[in-house]
Amino acid sequence: MQFRDLKKQYQVLKPRMDAAVTQVMSDCNFISGIQVKALERRLADYVGVKHCISCANGTDALELAERAYGIGPGDAVFVPDFTFFSSAETVADLGATPVFVDVDPVSFNLCPQALESALDRVRAQGKLRPRAVVAVDLFGLPADFPALERIARENGLLLIEDGAQGFGGRIGDRRACSFGDIATTSFFPAKPLGCYGDGGAVFTNDDGIAALIRSLCVHGKSELDKYNNLRLGMNSRLDTIQAAVLDVKLSAFEDYELEKVNAAAKMYTERLAGKLDVPVVPEGFYSSWAQYTVQLPDREKRDRVQAGLRERGIPSMIYYPKCMHQQGAFEKLPYRGDCPVSERLCGTVLSLPMHPYLTQEDADQVCGALLSLL
Ligand SMILES: *Cc1c(COP(=O)(O)O)cnc(C)c1O
Repeated sequence: MQFRDLKKQYQVLKPRMDAAVTQVMSDCNFISGIQVKALERRLADYVGVKHCISCANGTDALELAERAYGIGPGDAVFVPDFTFFSSAETVADLGATPVFVDVDPVSFNLCPQALESALDRVRAQGKLRPRAVVAVDLFGLPADFPALERIARENGLLLIEDGAQGFGGRIGDRRACSFGDIATTSFFPAKPLGCYGDGGAVFTNDDGIAALIRSLCVHGKSELDKYNNLRLGMNSRLDTIQAAVLDVKLSAFEDYELEKVNAAAKMYTERLAGKLDVPVVPEGFYSSWAQYTVQLPDREKRDRVQAGLRERGIPSMIYYPKCMHQQGAFEKLPYRGDCPVSERLCGTVLSLPMHPYLTQEDADQVCGALLSLL
């Protein structure tokens, strides 16, 4: 059994995929080909924002968004303690200070109350300027944006949606990657919408910020003169081949994959609810199920269950074994935070095989093994 069955997906998409990739090779328009612009338009329309700027990966997407708003030394940027490293890495890379905030024990997303306490703490210390919040759509579930948008507005904070795992999710009829002031995503192969290598994108409704990010992506070039560099930038573009791959994948995602991954989540929940802690999607929210993550009672049981599944040929993953405040790279940060929920989750979470091609038989096998191991 595969944790995320990209081989099955390729078999299904093969005729269209091979044609799309071959087209790029025969045209030899490997960088900034017409497929890139066309994909950006499709992605922006799907998400419901004015601009999509594609780039080399989801980490660069975060850095581009943060650079465009001038985040830097002296700024406090609030980041969930339970996330992938990039969410905080880019902040520190720009010289700003990540301030880790605990997550909600049910949604695993940034806890609005904990954010307000962290803001008070930073203000009381008076050393850093509270500047921005990076809200992650962890495991495919959008963060609590109604609450976070209010807090950001009341406190003059920039709100960045790290939608690397969130593409396809919704709150009401608002789609993930449209929340906050600016949003980012990743097309790493295992994400809800993945390409065949690295890729990422930034989403914004702001014309000025969009133009600035387009410049930053290509060495800070001028819009009018490619060889006049107005500022220091990066070299961060989505390859044309990846845009061609994503065009095929986005059609499958829209037509049936997002629905099928939700059906797969339902199969798990039907068998597991009441027997162990299963993920909960709040009323009005829709998840793109980047992961289906259950909680075991404690670390010892979790590790034993994972080993048992492995013996039965069932892959599972621990996302994440270590919180942000426990990372070696952040050892010297002044505000490492008090994040008991994140610490507990690192010892109890277990992510099960999850993808649109998961069958009822797969789900039964995983659940049967899991329940017998408990
Ligand atoms: C994967 C991921 C990223 C980084 O994306 P890359 O394309 O791998 O650089 C950032 N944030 C979160 C939450 C992620 O899961």
